[in-house]
Amino acid sequence: MSSIGSSTEVVVVGAGIAGLACARALREAGREVVVIDRSDAPGGRMRTDLVEGFRLDRGFQVLLTAYPEAKRVLDYDRLDLRAFYPGALVRWHESFHRVADPFRRPVDGLLGVGSPVGSLVDKLRVGLLRFELGSASLEALASRPETTTGDALDARGFGPAIRERFLRPFLGGVFLERDLRTSSRMFEFVWKMFSSGDIAVPALGMQAIPEQLAGALPPGTVRTGVEVVAAEPGLVRLADGSTLSARAVVVAADGPAAARLLGEVDPGSRSVTCHYFAAPRSPLGEPVLVLNGEGPQDGPVNNLCVESDVSPAYAPPGQALVSATVLEGSPDELDGVTAHLRRWFGAQVDGWRHLRSYHVAHALPDRPEPRAPRVRDGLWRCGDWCEQASINGALVSGRKVAEAVLADLRHA
Ligand SMILES: Cc1cc2nc3c(=O)[nH]c(=O)nc-3n(C[C@H](O)[C@H](O)[C@H](O)COP(=O)(O)OP(=O)(O)OC[C@H]3O[C@@H](n4cnc5c(N)ncnc54)[C@H](O)[C@@H]3O)c2cc1C
Repeated sequence: MSSIGSSTEVVVVGAGIAGLACARALREAGREVVVIDRSDAPGGRMRTDLVEGFRLDRGFQVLLTAYPEAKRVLDYDRLDLRAFYPGALVRWHESFHRVADPFRRPVDGLLGVGSPVGSLVDKLRVGLLRFELGSASLEALASRPETTTGDALDARGFGPAIRERFLRPFLGGVFLERDLRTSSRMFEFVWKMFSSGDIAVPALGMQAIPEQLAGALPPGTVRTGVEVVAAEPGLVRLADGSTLSARAVVVAADGPAAARLLGEVDPGSRSVTCHYFAAPRSPLGEPVLVLNGEGPQDGPVNNLCVESDVSPAYAPPGQALVSATVLEGSPDELDGVTAHLRRWFGAQVDGWRHLRSYHVAHALPDRPEPRAPRVRDGLWRCGDWCEQASINGALVSGRKVAEAVLADLRHA
């Protein structure tokens, strides 16, 4: 690492997508900015490891292409996005049942009419929900009364079959909790996104997203391998004992780390474990999400996909990359995961090779909430925990803090 120097106009602590989005907006406005991260590369929770020619995202993760801020900030063409099938395969009673978005896959949706994943009335309710959310503005959704996702589903009359077999594992995989206690506003936002865009990954892995943001900054702006141990108005203290002063310090760390730096209440964490396997061929043969419709009594895996069916670059030629996600979970449960997958896919699983397991202790903030960007004069904050627990929320938060800092610098 080259020397950081002792002062700059704005220092951003954290090179996740929130910090990078903030830095980019500041640079575009002509401000001098340095981004510091303790990790070995930018990206924060959006990193992809290259292991034996496989691209392993550090935990299964997707971009919803309808995210409004992502659309604004990212160049989707250059990310070469690869979309999932708009629907899912639900594992229930020893078979896989297709659930399709009836508006985007009308024929599959029609074939699913007799499936045991939900009654016809439930499927009509899905259509009504799509219509209701599709016609509401994001501002209107954000100001609706807030309950839990479970209460929001109850209020719309979803029956137990669709709720337990599809909605709970699907939304559980999105919110990283199966209790459906996530805010109803988040549920409505996410459902609107699913209804109006694709579920996708960049062809070369999720890290391509922060790389695109970092690539828009002048060389040397992002300094990695540097830990900040204290953030104060106009000053950060680094682990090596040196200090860096700035007119504005923006803490863009993840919620728990930011809480320590700022002396605030930790927003809590939702954890997840993702197990990757190399397979000689795909057990699915299509870019579809598989959901555990039986619940944990069937086995630990909540959702699964073959990443190389979505984007072939996730695996070397002639091989497939299987990703199995366990909510919370731990790398020690591998035997239980393999046994579960053998029940789903049979003896072919014996030919799969475990590549790596990622346990992400802080995947999402448990209690994100809108927080003003300003902590006090000269000290600012951003990140998904300050807005909404998603890629979109992190990007919005990064933009908002940049706008606030710019206004402050102009008036100072
Ligand atoms: C497994 C997983 C699955 C997910 N799935 C989805 C999904 O499907 N869709 C979706 O929208 N979102 C998903 N998310 C959430 C999304 O990735 C995050 O909301 C987003 O990446 C948060 O970005 P951020 O910049 O706020 O924080 P982070 O990415 O956490 O960045 C914070 C940075 O601060 C740095 N830092 C912390 N403390 C210090 C310090 N003291 N000194 C220096 N640097 C420090 C860290 O190293 C890190 O790089 C998922 C996350 C995970 C982990």
